[in-house]
Amino acid sequence: MSNPVPEFTSDLPEGTAGFVDHIGIAVRDLDEGIALYGGLLGLELERIEEVPQENVRVAFLKLDRAGALGHIELLAPMSDEGAIAAFIERKGPGLHHLAVAAENIPTVLERCRAAGMRLIDETPRTGAGGKQIAFLHPKSGGGVLIEVCAEKDQA
Ligand code: ZN
Repeated sequence: MSNPVPEFTSDLPEGTAGFVDHIGIAVRDLDEGIALYGGLLGLELERIEEVPQENVRVAFLKLDRAGALGHIELLAPMSDEGAIAAFIERKGPGLHHLAVAAENIPTVLERCRAAGMRLIDETPRTGAGGKQIAFLHPKSGGGVLIEVCAEKDQA
């Protein structure tokens, strides 16, 4: 029987990297989130970081023991200000965004813009871990807030 899984590696859309980098989850309290995903469910905490420009504290937990599959990004507001605080106020804590890795963010943004998608970020900006990030609007992402992210030297 032939393998039903196609190989996509040779024909990735230009600028993409072909994998999910992380899943962003908004939490009210970072320690409670870490206790759930780490203490109860066994994901390893990699690091905690403050991102003052987003007004959030962020915890990265590995999806697998090596961290090769990506991460869960827990986002807790540092005050009542900022996008995560507003999200929790509006919808409560929960799944916030899906981050897809890119080799070149501007190339991906240009393709999405040309396809008629609404962009939240017209150009990449710096996010957690010094990565370059840009968000696509959930209204044109099928209801999903999508982040495109790249290592800083690739964006
Ligand atoms: Zn993210």
